[in-house]
Amino acid sequence: HNEITSCEGCGVKLQTEKPELPGYIPAQTLDREPVICQRCFRIKNYNDAASVTLEQDDFLRLLSQVGASKNESLVIHIVDLFDFDGSLISSLQRFVGNNPVLLVVNKIDLLPKVTNWNRLTNWVQKRAKEHGIKVIDVVLVSAKKNQGFEMLLDKVGQYRRHGQDIYVVGATNVGKSTLINRLIRDYSDIERELTTSRFPGTTLDLVKIPLDDGNFIIDTPGIVYPSRLTELVSRKDLGAIMPDRPLKPMVFQLNEGQTLFFGAMARFDFVQGPRQSFTCFVSNGLNIHRTKLDRADELYAEHRGEMLAPPNREQIEDLPVWTKHQIRIPKGSKSDLFISGLGWIKVNSDEGALVTIHAPKGVKVLARDSMI
Ligand code: GDP
Repeated sequence: HNEITSCEGCGVKLQTEKPELPGYIPAQTLDREPVICQRCFRIKNYNDAASVTLEQDDFLRLLSQVGASKNESLVIHIVDLFDFDGSLISSLQRFVGNNPVLLVVNKIDLLPKVTNWNRLTNWVQKRAKEHGIKVIDVVLVSAKKNQGFEMLLDKVGQYRRHGQDIYVVGATNVGKSTLINRLIRDYSDIERELTTSRFPGTTLDLVKIPLDDGNFIIDTPGIVYPSRLTELVSRKDLGAIMPDRPLKPMVFQLNEGQTLFFGAMARFDFVQGPRQSFTCFVSNGLNIHRTKLDRADELYAEHRGEMLAPPNREQIEDLPVWTKHQIRIPKGSKSDLFISGLGWIKVNSDEGALVTIHAPKGVKVLARDSMI
């Protein structure tokens, strides 16, 4: 087993002699798979530790510590661009006090390459404001495609003038672990132990990662919002609704009285208005089925879990029943009909429209100014 000479994680040359030097691997772990150095091992296991989650109330109590702390901190608030209105922590403002909030919008790799990024940044700023969130700045990144990190590190340096602690907050699945690991690599000497501090009144820990300058990156548990479809579906179906490659918008020219089914996850009815186009921004893996509105109930009753899937037969009963959201789209508006966790339907409506969205009970559905 001594043939492996480099770390499968980072490629560094492995050695078993000096724990303080790069590439160290304890001799007794050489036959463990994968063969990775101690540093990579910690980052990897840190990832596992970071996936703890918290209900909203506990989370907010935890956050109020940030606001109360005497030392000013920088708060990095990570949101998922694909689920922007679902992953934004609207109540953040009340708890962070005067600490500056840097809004980091992740997963920009999901949007088409031709996106106007300045316009998107303005949209994000405006939308955050509408949600009552004051941000010192906005950064667009892709943790997966390694985009925007230089800008992020730049801005972190800029707003962390007095070398304060950095709190990282975010809902589940927004890419927080990926991003923290990145920050650790750039700001920290990972050979040192990670420490955790227990927050009183909960069983959950804040993970304190020591930085080279004596301060900390403090990772908070991912917050769970049951208003996101991604929190309600099975693990298997999560893969079907969460896009993992750039979205290919699907355009439908519809007459009034037509319906679209998004698998059996949600349904869209064009109830009233002149013929117009509706552009669906959902995972390419999700099957969109078009039908007549007056056949839709019957079709659903007969084919849910089969032709209309996911979820399939076994999982469909675990999803809450649908509720109806009736939305009137004003004349001359450009709107997104947003379904948290599933995506959105873009409508450029010259003459207005009346539509209905059916989505599992509790899932956040709203109309917003269109993102792109
Ligand atoms: P956490 O729960 O916030 O810690 O998020 P993770 O880092 O575990 O990521 C959650 C999911 O989002 C995983 O499936 C990641 O692959 C995916 N993800 C993270 N960052 C990106 C990104 O920049 N783009 C895309 N498309 N997916 C991402």
